[in-house]
Amino acid sequence: MFLLICKRPSRASKSERNLSSDKPVEQHEPVALDWLIANKIDLWVWCEDCSHHARLSSELALQKFGNLSVPQIRQRLHCSKCRSRVIFVRPDWPRQGVVARHEPI
Ligand SMILES: [Zn+2]
Repeated sequence: MFLLICKRPSRASKSERNLSSDKPVEQHEPVALDWLIANKIDLWVWCEDCSHHARLSSELALQKFGNLSVPQIRQRLHCSKCRSRVIFVRPDWPRQGVVARHEPI
């Protein structure tokens, strides 16, 4: 299982609160494409049904879908191999760096 929660600074959501007064601001925002591009992170896409997986360029996804969050992108993808829509998407965190920490059990 993966647990990927990316907390943005609370200052960012404070400024966005002024823009949308009609609906409540989400407690935690999923990472969106513009954030990933700014941090030079692509997407890692995995088909839950046939395990087909690929790396998807964040810039390409932005051109195709607009600036969506990672969960929103997941809803728009399907597997090119088995046509399944049970897709898992996560940011492809850089391997060398403080963010990624994968330790085998
Ligand atoms: Zn598949």
